[in-house]
Amino acid sequence: MFSIIARNERGVLMELKNLIGQCFCGAIKYEVERPLKFIAHDHCSICRRISGAAFVTWAGTKENQFKLLAGADNISSFKTTAEAERQFCKTCGSHLFFRSTRWPDEVHFTVATVTSDFVDQPKSHVFFSDKAKWIDIHDELPRYGGKTGVEPINE
Ligand SMILES: [Zn+2]
Repeated sequence: MFSIIARNERGVLMELKNLIGQCFCGAIKYEVERPLKFIAHDHCSICRRISGAAFVTWAGTKENQFKLLAGADNISSFKTTAEAERQFCKTCGSHLFFRSTRWPDEVHFTVATVTSDFVDQPKSHVFFSDKAKWIDIHDELPRYGGKTGVEPINE
């Protein structure tokens, strides 16, 4: 298994292994090789409604760093916009993957479905202008929003 060595927040060297994830029922399993392209809390209304949660935390990787380990036949694909497609488990409904022509050659996966140790911290809030009014965010992470969802915003 491929892995890289990195320092954690305390400066301690640690081995970062590939990430392993799966849907709730376990039919779909996947593996992601580092480095990740991003980790962000996504507040767009599509994520909110499709996941039934205040926001979805995504991480992204290059297509060639992503491997489906099991369950290809159990994946249900759904286009949420003209350019984007989301994938779910046909059995348990877990929201797993996102691909868009806006970010070609990338796979975005829901961090909540990672089952191996995940020590990385989200780096930003995106689509923050669409945030649900019924939650407050009190962290110091940069906030992006506006029309594209990823423009710097001040509030
Ligand atoms: Zn499942």
